[in-house]
Amino acid sequence: MIQHPHQLHAQAALWSLRAALRHLDEHRDALLIRRPQLGPAEARPRSLASLARHDELLRAEKAERAAGSLRGLKPSAGSAAPGDAPGLADLERDLYQVLVDVHTMLAYHHHRNRLLAWTGHWHRVLDAWGITRDARWTWISTVLPVTVPHLAEAVRLLLDDADQQVRAYAGLDADLLAPPLAPPCPACDRRRLRIQTSAPDSGRWTVVCAAACMCIGEACPCGMDVQERGVRHIWAPDSGLAVSIAAGVRTMGLAA
Ligand SMILES: [Zn+2]
Ligand SMILES: [Zn+2]
Repeated sequence: MIQHPHQLHAQAALWSLRAALRHLDEHRDALLIRRPQLGPAEARPRSLASLARHDELLRAEKAERAAGSLRGLKPSAGSAAPGDAPGLADLERDLYQVLVDVHTMLAYHHHRNRLLAWTGHWHRVLDAWGITRDARWTWISTVLPVTVPHLAEAVRLLLDDADQQVRAYAGLDADLLAPPLAPPCPACDRRRLRIQTSAPDSGRWTVVCAAACMCIGEACPCGMDVQERGVRHIWAPDSGLAVSIAAGVRTMGLAA
């Protein structure tokens, strides 16, 4: 299936944000304790007793969150942890809003499409496949490849912004690998290409050059399926470049 670079970028941003949120979910307790930088100094947990109390609050909150289908994205209702939680609570509330906004934009865009509209049908299908936690993610990732490019671009901007916020908070780099044997970019012919490895399945990884490496349109030597002037280069998972770089990464055991 031929995809527009905006659609590919949006998809990559969705996977990246999902990976960042999973990291946040898994390391939540450690991050909160390591980064008690928000709130007034006197309110930060300092003693072991206050850390233990904090831990209890987190545990209770975690159990609550686990009950929701949007685990990892549910706003954490302003945890009562003394002084240090608002940073994460604010971040999660913003992230939840981003997901709601993206979902709403796409749901509106596809609401007349009998197959893709976000209806009870999707809940039944996803339930049947055991996909409850990631139902909205799954739906968004399904409709992005058939979303008009300008809307995909808007979605990408929102997701990218959220992704950068989470990664900045968690101290997490972008999921980009540059294997030693990766070929140079066919467009600028000087930078080594990198592969975006956020998606759990390497068959969905996309390849990018630097952010400044833009397509110049039809005359561009990049070889992207859709060459659009002014869009950052990205090569689809089924392109020769992505397939060979992903194979190299797997062979060398570079991906986690
Ligand atoms: Zn390039
Ligand atoms: Zn190009």
